[in-house]
Amino acid sequence: MLSQLIKLPTNAKVGVVGGGISGLTFTYFLGKLRPDVEITLFNPESRPGGWINSWDTHDKNNQPVMIERGPRTFRGVSDGTVMIMDSMLEMNKGDLIRSISKDSNADKKFIVDPKNKLVQVPNSFPTLMKFFFNPLSKGLFSGMITEWTRKPIDPQIKDESVLSLLTRRYGSSAIGRNLFSALYRGIYADDVGNLSAQKVVGKLYYDERKYGSITKGSISRWRNKSKKEDENKDKLSESVALYTRVFNKDENKIRALSKRLAQFPMLGLKGGLSQFPNAFKEAIVKLPNVSLLTDNVTSMNQSVKKDKMVLEYMTTNGNKSSSSKNSIKEFDHVRLAIAPNKISKLISRTNPKIKEKLDMINTNTVTLVNLFIPDKDIIPQKNNGFGYLIPESNNNPEKVLGVIFDSVIEKSFKPFIETKSPTTTLQSQAQNYTKLTAMVGGSLYNDANGKQHIPNEEQTIENVKSALQKHLGTSREDLDAGQWVYTVAKDCLPQFKIGYNDLTKSIEEDVINDYSSKVSLGGMGFSKGPGIPDVVADALIDATKLQ
Ligand SMILES: Cc1cc2nc3c(=O)[nH]c(=O)nc-3n(C[C@H](O)[C@H](O)[C@H](O)COP(=O)(O)OP(=O)(O)OC[C@H]3O[C@@H](n4cnc5c(N)ncnc54)[C@H](O)[C@@H]3O)c2cc1C
Repeated sequence: MLSQLIKLPTNAKVGVVGGGISGLTFTYFLGKLRPDVEITLFNPESRPGGWINSWDTHDKNNQPVMIERGPRTFRGVSDGTVMIMDSMLEMNKGDLIRSISKDSNADKKFIVDPKNKLVQVPNSFPTLMKFFFNPLSKGLFSGMITEWTRKPIDPQIKDESVLSLLTRRYGSSAIGRNLFSALYRGIYADDVGNLSAQKVVGKLYYDERKYGSITKGSISRWRNKSKKEDENKDKLSESVALYTRVFNKDENKIRALSKRLAQFPMLGLKGGLSQFPNAFKEAIVKLPNVSLLTDNVTSMNQSVKKDKMVLEYMTTNGNKSSSSKNSIKEFDHVRLAIAPNKISKLISRTNPKIKEKLDMINTNTVTLVNLFIPDKDIIPQKNNGFGYLIPESNNNPEKVLGVIFDSVIEKSFKPFIETKSPTTTLQSQAQNYTKLTAMVGGSLYNDANGKQHIPNEEQTIENVKSALQKHLGTSREDLDAGQWVYTVAKDCLPQFKIGYNDLTKSIEEDVINDYSSKVSLGGMGFSKGPGIPDVVADALIDATKLQ
């Protein structure tokens, strides 16, 4: 969000729309920073966390099992992660934190080659050699050697697709269609031909513009790195320093925590990622200045005198489908921690200008298909890893974006805090089980006009079975014996198309001007990145601006 947010008046009233992780953390941070401010958090479901959804159920033997129906891990190196983990430690939830080390199986990632074989993303000399001789590396090495000789882009061209940037710089579309398309399908569920280079590969985008080539930029950064590392050895990043300052934290402890977290490529939580929004909800409930309403906000407008924001909401009693009466509340500030397409609905009657811009942000739908087999590990030993991604160059009629090996991740989890008491759960003690999640669809569901075509549950599960047979060699018998869970995450990800940064900047400016800084925007659509730590760091920064 832009920097023009202004300090809240004493005893101000704040409405937060959305109890996903960005709304929850914003409420928690602001609630603690400003005990005088009265905060109302609206979320239609009593379950907090939005897309974070760890589902506790039972397997066919009536044993408890947890299925992730959304995110499952987040990265260790990130400002937001430091804030999340420090807050969890403060809430005495440190024993739930799990880490994945760089040498564990779960840090290995695979890409599917044109012959449907899984090829490891290189992390050592032998894996680099294997990769080198695979068609997936086509154009990579020659492209890298000659990249610095290519003409830089005309600076008049403000943005382009990731594929276009890679093709120009490396002299072939192969790198984009093989490596990068797999990686970005895993994060954005979209094609490199659609994604904005400025938004998604900012480092490459700015290196070319600043140094004339990506290679020159990397060399320059590498040269300065050891010097900078020395200078910044003990310096906290800007937003972590802000967090430390506003909450009067011990700087040495935060520095030690940041360094420790940075050692781990990934982190998770025992019992599932929902433990994290649950912990924040629990902490928020204890704050005397915060109330939680399980209500759906239906519109946002300014008061007649334009000195307040008015939210109209419908009581759902925690169940979205049972809405009843309409109510109204006035606020000095409203935080919209919901997706751009949802914000558009709130202002559809009152602000057609901003609505029109928000409607330019289309969305992708991802279907998550979980497989659980309680008594057999079907993931081949040689493919034990985080999972695999499928690049655009692969013929992929099943429309699978990638598959995550949850059981490998769970088996690789280590407690972040060493404890003497046993920390393993019943399920993780049993090593001989399979849990995996296929991510299906995204841009692959969209036709040329952007219309989504989502196959039904039966067809989708059938497609996933066919993909697993092809990629892992799993027998049909094993797949049919497994338990399947199907979740449609409808419109869950904004499409970060060419020009995305300019579009969101213009929306943010309009919001600041039209509502005189009485509205701020959070969540994936307006954050630096789409991950959990990104939206949490934004929540902290904006909460401190209102402080
Ligand atoms: C399938 C999938 C997998 C992902 N995997 C990862 C991962 O592994 N690691 C990672 O770091 N990130 C991952 N992400 C991204 C991560 O989920 C997001 O960064 C995060 O969930 C964003 O949280 P949020 O609070 O902004 O939004 P949301 O999670 O969308 O929460 C918004 C909340 O607002 C509520 N709401 C909506 N409209 C209204 C209204 N009108 N009134 C009141 N409430 C409303 C919703 O019900 C919801 O509870 C993944 C995302 C998806 C979709």
